[in-house]
Amino acid sequence: MYTKAPCWQTSNLPDADMIVWSVFMPYDAYERPIQYLRISVTDRCNLRCVYCMPEEGIPLIPHQDILRYEEIVRIVRVAVGMGLDRIRLTGGEPLVRKGVVDLVGELARIPNLKDLSMTTNGILLGRYAERLAQAGLRRVNVSLDTLQEDRFRRITRRGRLEDVLEGRRAALAAGMRPVKINTVVVRGLNDDEVVDIARLTLEPDWHVRFIEVMPLGAAGGEESHWSGNGVVSAAEVRTHIETALGPLEPVRGETGSGPARYYRLPGAAGTVGFISPVTEHFCHSCNRLRLTADGRLLPCLLSNFAIDLRSVLRGGGDDEQLRETFLQAIIAKPRGHHLADGVASVYLPMSQIGG
Ligand code: SAM
Ligand code: SF4
Repeated sequence: MYTKAPCWQTSNLPDADMIVWSVFMPYDAYERPIQYLRISVTDRCNLRCVYCMPEEGIPLIPHQDILRYEEIVRIVRVAVGMGLDRIRLTGGEPLVRKGVVDLVGELARIPNLKDLSMTTNGILLGRYAERLAQAGLRRVNVSLDTLQEDRFRRITRRGRLEDVLEGRRAALAAGMRPVKINTVVVRGLNDDEVVDIARLTLEPDWHVRFIEVMPLGAAGGEESHWSGNGVVSAAEVRTHIETALGPLEPVRGETGSGPARYYRLPGAAGTVGFISPVTEHFCHSCNRLRLTADGRLLPCLLSNFAIDLRSVLRGGGDDEQLRETFLQAIIAKPRGHHLADGVASVYLPMSQIGG
């Protein structure tokens, strides 16, 4: 169905026959190499961040519909074989799923897997960091939006700031590097803290990334930031930081696998990153697919289009059929989203998509 050839040219691709492969990875219809898979291992979470889900939580996927670990491992084997060899585990909160350390161990053993990472809210990281590192997790991103205990409670509606800080310390003590902090900036909620958070990068092993809040409907409730009023542009955050702490120097060669742009404060060891899905979208360099906890492949975070990989898997599909399904998702990747125009057609909650 596809040809594996050292070819770098693409045009509009109407079907899988026309997908273009380099020796190492598939390219989509817009000449983007697709090499990164984010896997939501659960839709359950121990927090209720105001920009992510309503206080009462979201309707949960029935257990039998959630991908089993052996199914995830098989999917990752196929994905890595296709060149999607950078894997991030996310959620929901990945550390609330029982046995996730064993999953990490299984995945880490897959030949040719280039990168295995996790995004976590950090609450349980103190408990699991050592075992995760032993199982083969090399690095972790920790979500943290504030350095103030009462505000942490307001944003997450539960949980303790100290647990996250302890989780970060434990990850570093276990040898994970880098540990990046993800800070979603919301106007009126934590935008007055961006300078304090950026200042942390003057200390060893602090790397922070500021993320524009995406107006996704599922958060709901009075704290909903769907209207877009909550968005603080990366440019505005950068101006605040530079006014207080001096010019940010671009960091060459530090791109990670994702869309962040990285800078450094004068004299700082750590980096300050900006992820601006709303004001300066990075669709032109989008290199990823997402897999939901119930086995749907999403070509784009900000589209409702999903391909049911679980049915192929549970319907007895062989690896070739799984590959075909991946190719369909790659072909279906749209050129871009229209969030900046206030248009987003996302009905899945962020906790199912995995961020
Ligand atoms: N529970 C884990 C955590 O919070 O790190 C992993 C899942 S969470 C959905 C993944 C990332 O998405 C987090 O960094 C979170 O801050 C971010 N996120 C959630 N809702 C968001 C939104 N509306 N806009 C921007 N980022 C969001
Ligand atoms: Fe849970 Fe992460 Fe969503 Fe917060 S952002 S509610 S920690 S899934």
